[in-house]
Amino acid sequence: MPEGHTLHRIARDHGRLLVGRAVTVSSPQGRFADAILVDGQRLDRLEAYGKHLFYTWSNGLVGHVHLGLFGKYRVSRHGDEEAPEPRGAVRMRLSTPDVTIDLAGPTDCSIGDESDRDRIVARLGPDPLRRDARPQAAFDRIARSRQPIGALLLDQSVMCGVGNVYRAEALFVNGIRPTRLGRDLDPAELEALWSTIVAMLKQGVKDNRIITVDRRELDLPRGRRIRRGEATYAYKRDRCLRCGTPIESVELAGRPCYYCPTCQPT
Ligand SMILES: [Zn+2]
Repeated sequence: MPEGHTLHRIARDHGRLLVGRAVTVSSPQGRFADAILVDGQRLDRLEAYGKHLFYTWSNGLVGHVHLGLFGKYRVSRHGDEEAPEPRGAVRMRLSTPDVTIDLAGPTDCSIGDESDRDRIVARLGPDPLRRDARPQAAFDRIARSRQPIGALLLDQSVMCGVGNVYRAEALFVNGIRPTRLGRDLDPAELEALWSTIVAMLKQGVKDNRIITVDRRELDLPRGRRIRRGEATYAYKRDRCLRCGTPIESVELAGRPCYYCPTCQPT
C-alpha cells in the first residue's frame, strides 16, 4: 500500500496538470457512472489527506479516491484528441487537450460534496505532510493508549499517511522499540518522533520513493543511486545498517514491524 508521500506527490504532480482546467471525466470501464456529474467541470483543487485524494470541482462536488492496495494512476502526455486506448480496467479517465490520466484498481473512486470530504477527514488523525496538521491531537491519543507505538503509528485515526516502512524507520531513528506502549513515551520522544516522520515523508515526496537513510552512512561512490534494499536502516534488512545486529520483527497492526534490538533497546 502506498504511504502518504505517494499521495501528496500525486496531488502535486497531477494538480499542476489539471487544476484550473476544464477536465473531461469518464469511466472507460463503466464502474464509475458518477463521472458524468463532474464531466467538463473545472478542477479547482486537488489535495491529499493521508492516503486519500480529494478533487474539488467548480460545481461544488468533491471526488474522493483511495488507492488501497492495487490502485494505480497512469499519466499520458497525449490529450483528449489522441488519448491512448485504456489499458486494463480504467475506472476513471481525466483528460484535457494536453494530458490523459487513467486510474485503475482503486478501493474507492466516488463523487460527493464538501460534507462527505469533511466526514472522511474527521476520522483521520493529523497528516504530517499538511501545513494545517495539529500533532498535539496525535500526541494526546498516544499518551493515553496502552497499544504499542508500532500499532498506533499505522492507525490512520491517530496520524495519517504513515505506512509500514516509515513506521519502522522513524522508530529506529529515535531508538524506540515498536512494542513500547504509547503511554510510556514521554512528550519529548513524541515531538522527536513527529519531527522525524515529517522530515522522512517530505523527503519521500521530493524523491518520489522511500529513502530514510542518510547517504553519508552508506559509503557509496558519489552520484551512485541508492538501490532498493539499501534505502532503509532496519526495514526488511537482514542486519542493522548501523550496528550489524540481526534485525528482528514483531507483528503489529497485522503487519511485521522491523527493528534492531540493539539500537532500539526498549
Ligand atoms: Zn542497530
